[in-house]
Amino acid sequence: MANFKKVESNKKFPEMEKEVIEFWKENKTFEKSLTNRKDAKRYSFYDGPPFATGTPHYGHLVGNIMKDVVPRYWTMRGYYVERKWGWDCHGLPIENIVEKEMGSKKKKDIEALGVDKFNELCRSKVLTYVDEWEKVVGRMGRWADMDNAYRTMDKDYMESVWWVFKELWDKGLIYEDYRSMHVCPRCETTLSQSEVTEGYKDIKDLSVIAKFELVDEPGTFVLAWTTTPWTLPGNVALAVNIKEDYVKLKINKIIENNLNFSLKEGESYILEDSRLKDLFDLSIDSKMERQNDYFKSENETRKVDGKFNLEIGYEILSGKDLVGKKYKPLFDFYSKNEKLENRENGWKVYAGDFVTTEDGTGVVHIAPAFGEDDMRLGKENKLPFVQHVSMDGSFKEEMGELAGLNVKPIENHQATDIEIIKYLAKSGTLFHKEKYEHSYPHCWRCDTPLINYATSSWFVSVTKIKDRALELAKNINWSPANMKEGRFGNWLEGARDWSISRQRFWASVMPIWVCEECGEKKVFGSVAELEKLSGEKIDDLHKHIVDKIIFACEKCQGKMKRVPDVLDTWFDSGSMPYAQKHYPFENKEDMENNFPADFIAEGVDQTRAWFYYLHVIATGIKDNNAFKNVIVNGIVLAEDGKKMSKKLKNYPDPMEMFEKYGADSVRYYLMSSPVVAAQNMNFIENEVGEITRGMMRMLWNSYSFFVLYAEIDKFEADKNFNPQKLNGLLDKWIVSELHMLIKEFNEHMENYELHKASRLLPKFVDNLSNWYIRRSRKRFWKSENDGDKNEAYQTLYYVLMELVKVMAPFAPFMTEEIYGNLVHGSQSTVHSKESVHLADFPMADESLIDEKVNLDMRMVREIVNVGLQLRAKNAIKVRQPLSELRIMNYELSEELVEIIKEEVNVKEIINVKDIREVENVIWDSGQKVGLNTEITEELKLEGLARELVRHIQEMRKQAGYDVENRINIWYHVENPVFEKFRDLIAKETLANQVLLKTETMESDLEREFEIDGEKFIISIKK
Ligand SMILES: [Zn+2]
Ligand SMILES: [Zn+2]
Repeated sequence: MANFKKVESNKKFPEMEKEVIEFWKENKTFEKSLTNRKDAKRYSFYDGPPFATGTPHYGHLVGNIMKDVVPRYWTMRGYYVERKWGWDCHGLPIENIVEKEMGSKKKKDIEALGVDKFNELCRSKVLTYVDEWEKVVGRMGRWADMDNAYRTMDKDYMESVWWVFKELWDKGLIYEDYRSMHVCPRCETTLSQSEVTEGYKDIKDLSVIAKFELVDEPGTFVLAWTTTPWTLPGNVALAVNIKEDYVKLKINKIIENNLNFSLKEGESYILEDSRLKDLFDLSIDSKMERQNDYFKSENETRKVDGKFNLEIGYEILSGKDLVGKKYKPLFDFYSKNEKLENRENGWKVYAGDFVTTEDGTGVVHIAPAFGEDDMRLGKENKLPFVQHVSMDGSFKEEMGELAGLNVKPIENHQATDIEIIKYLAKSGTLFHKEKYEHSYPHCWRCDTPLINYATSSWFVSVTKIKDRALELAKNINWSPANMKEGRFGNWLEGARDWSISRQRFWASVMPIWVCEECGEKKVFGSVAELEKLSGEKIDDLHKHIVDKIIFACEKCQGKMKRVPDVLDTWFDSGSMPYAQKHYPFENKEDMENNFPADFIAEGVDQTRAWFYYLHVIATGIKDNNAFKNVIVNGIVLAEDGKKMSKKLKNYPDPMEMFEKYGADSVRYYLMSSPVVAAQNMNFIENEVGEITRGMMRMLWNSYSFFVLYAEIDKFEADKNFNPQKLNGLLDKWIVSELHMLIKEFNEHMENYELHKASRLLPKFVDNLSNWYIRRSRKRFWKSENDGDKNEAYQTLYYVLMELVKVMAPFAPFMTEEIYGNLVHGSQSTVHSKESVHLADFPMADESLIDEKVNLDMRMVREIVNVGLQLRAKNAIKVRQPLSELRIMNYELSEELVEIIKEEVNVKEIINVKDIREVENVIWDSGQKVGLNTEITEELKLEGLARELVRHIQEMRKQAGYDVENRINIWYHVENPVFEKFRDLIAKETLANQVLLKTETMESDLEREFEIDGEKFIISIKK
C-alpha cells in the first residue's frame, strides 16, 4: 500500500526548493494558508516598507526571513496572519537618484526643471527594482502579499497621512518654530534629530583662535576659539562664564616664541585662567597666591619648556569684569549696516552659562544664526541677527570678496575655512590655528557635511506626550530584551520635538493652508474637505498638484496658499498602521482589529526611526502602542568583519547562496546567528555550507532511510499510533526528546527569540540521525515483521512528521518536500493537509517527556564519545574489541550499559568511585571515563575476525549478491583466527561454511588483502 516517491539520497537541495516553489504556485498554498484561517483569531503583523531604490542586500534578507518565520509559525499555531507588503516611495533616496540622472547639483536645478517634471520622474523611477525584489523574496521562500502592497505614494495612503496629521494637529501636537536646526546645504532641507544622529563621522577640520580687540583698550584682545571658522562673519557677540576668572596677559618682550601663536610685543590677551595651562603651558593662580614659580612678580621673564622665552605681565579679571565690554568686529559686512536691527547691542561681551573651560579659551564666539546656545543668547539679549550664509551653504552676496563660497564644500570641506583664516591673518586678528579632529554630522543620504542653521520648521511636540509614550512603552516586548530600556528607552527618554517639515519635493505634503493676508490657518484631514473648500477635484496629493490649489480665506477673503514644505518620510512610515488600510476612510473595523501589531521586526537603527515614529504617532493619536512584540536585528558584516561593500565585492551574492546551498540553509544560518538578537555577525559562506552538509543533509538522509525501507516493507501509518504506549527504550527516548524540543521551541518562539528556538534543532536532528536511527537500523533490516519492527517504523514516522512541522518556519522547503511525500506515501489519514504550512503546529505533551531518560541517554552519548576519543587518541580501531571501560559514578541501567559496550566495543563496563592506578587504563582529561587499552592475544584475534568480516562484506557487494544470499568462504592462508572465530565470521557474513581452500573449490570472487601486516586470500561463492 505504501506509495512513497523515490528519494534521491544525494538530491541537490536548491533544485528541490525550486520544485517546492512550483508546488506552492500551482496549489496556491500561500493563499490557502490565509483562506483556511479566515475565521480564526487575528495575529497582526506590520511590514516596515523598504525602498525599492536598490536590490536587496543581506540586511534585507535578515528582515525578510524574520518576517516570514514568525508569521509562518503563528499561522501554524492557528491564527489568521495577514502579510501585506509595503513600498516606501518618497523622500531623498529616490530624489537623489533622479537628481543624479539629471546631473543636478543644487536644489535650484530642480526648480528650473519644474517640480511637476521632477516629481513625475521620481514616480517613474521609484519602483525600478520591484521585479528584482520579487525574485529574491520568492526565492528565499518568504510569503508576502506583494500584489496588494501598500505604496506610500498612492493617493489613499497619502490621504490617511493627512488624517494622521490632522489628528495630531487637533490635539495641539503640531507647531511651527524658528530654531537652530541641522540642514543639509546640498539638499537644502532641514533634518530631524534621528537623521542627524545617523550621519556622524570623524573629520579633520581647522580650529581657530581669533583676536577680538577691545574698543576702549586698543592692543588688548579677547581670545575666542572656534571649530567652525566659517561662522565668524556671523559673529555678533562673545560669551564668558561669570563664575570663572580670566587673565589678561601682557607680552612685554618676546625673546623666543617657538609655538605657532602670533604674539606681538605690547599686546595683551584675555582668556580664562585655567586655559592658560593648556595653551601656553603656564598657570597663574587666580587668587594671586603663587603656587608655582613661573611668576614672581607682575613683570618677569620666564622660559617654559624651551617654547617661550618671554617677559610677561598679567592681571586677573573676573568674568563679570568683562561683561559689557565692546570689541571691534572681525568683519564689517554687517556691522556697518545701520539698518541692522539691534545693531546697538552687537559686538559686546555677554554672560553665558553654557561657556565651559574644557577646551578653547573659555570665551565663546556667538553667531545666533548658527547654533542653539547662540540663538538663545541672541534672543535673550536682543542681539542683531546675522545670517551670512544661505540655506544652500554659500556666503551671501553682501559678503564682498568672500561671497558665493560654499561653507562646507563636499570635495574639500576645509577650503572655505582656509579662506577665512587667510582673511584673519591679513587683518591681524588670527591668534592661532590648528588641525582639529572631531565627530561631525553628515547628510545620511548625500554625505554632505551638515550645518547648524537657524530656520523655520514644523514640529510634532513629542516632549508633550513623552511621559505617556514612556508609560505605554513599558508594555512592549523587545527581543532582545535589553533594547527596551537600552537603545529604544534611552532614545525615547532623550526625545526632543520631531521636526517634520522638509523643503523638498517628492513626498507627502503638509496639509496646511495659510492666508496671505490675515494668517488664518486651515489644516486638512481628508481630500473631501479640501475639494469642498476649493471646489476642485483632486486626484493626486503630491506637491506639484496641491500647491496649485488656492482658495479664499473664510475670514478675510485673502488668498489661502499651502505651506510649501513637504513631510519627513518617517511621517509616512510612522503612519503605516492607518495608511496601509486607508484608515479611517475604509477598512475601519479591519484596521482596528489589527491594531496594535502583534509583531514587527527591523534593524537596530530603527530604534531611533521606524519603531520610534510608530510609537510617537500611536501615542499621539491612539493613546496606545503601535506594536506589542518586536525583534531587532543587528548588521550582517562581510567575512572579514568589515562592512559589506559592493565596491570591494567582499561578500557573495545572496541569490548565488540560494543556488549553491539552498535557501533553507541561508535562512537557518541567519536566524540561528546573533544577528536576530541585535548583534552584528560576519557572514561566512563556509558556515552556510556546513549547515547544508550537516543538519540539512542529516535530516534528508534520515528521511531517505525511512522512505527506502518503508517502501520495501509496505509501511502504512497507524492511525491509532499512541506514543504513550511505546515499549522500546530508544523509542520512548526519541519521543521524549521530541516533546522536549517542542516545548522549548514554543517557549522561545512565544518569546520572539528566534536564535534560541532555531538552535535547538541541530541537536535533535543529530539525536535522531546519529543515535536513534543508527541504533535502530537492525530493527528495520530484520526480516520478520514483528511488533518491535512496527514500533520502530511508527515511531520514526511520527517523529519525522512532527519534526518537519517544528522546522517548517525556518526551513520551509525541505520540510514541505518531506511532509508531502510522507503524508501521501503512507496513506496517512491523520495528516490530511496538503502542505506542512497548512498543518497545525505541534504542542508539547509533557507526559511524554521523561527527563531521566533524556539525561541518561545524554550521558550515554557522552561516555561513548569520550570512549571513542580515547580509542582514537591511542590509535586503536573501533573494530578491535577491548576488555573494559571504566566510568566514574554513573548510575546506568543494564540496557544503557549494553549500548555503551556495543558502541565502544568493550567486553565490560565497570562503574568505579575513584581512579585507582590500574595498569593499561587511561582516563580522559575530565577523569570521567577510563579505557583499558591492553590488547590480549584473544582480543587481537577477535579484532582480526571483525576486520575479515568487513572485507568479506565488501566482497559480497562487489560480487553483486543480494542481502539475503548465503555464501561459502574459503581461505588460502592458514591463521588461528579461523579456528577461534569461525562461527562469528560465518554468522556475520551469512556463510554456510568457512573452510581452507581445496583443489576442487570454484569461487565467484577472490581477493587478497593485508590486515595488520598479515596476508589473507579469501574466495567466496554464492
Ligand atoms: Zn543631503
Ligand atoms: Zn485671511
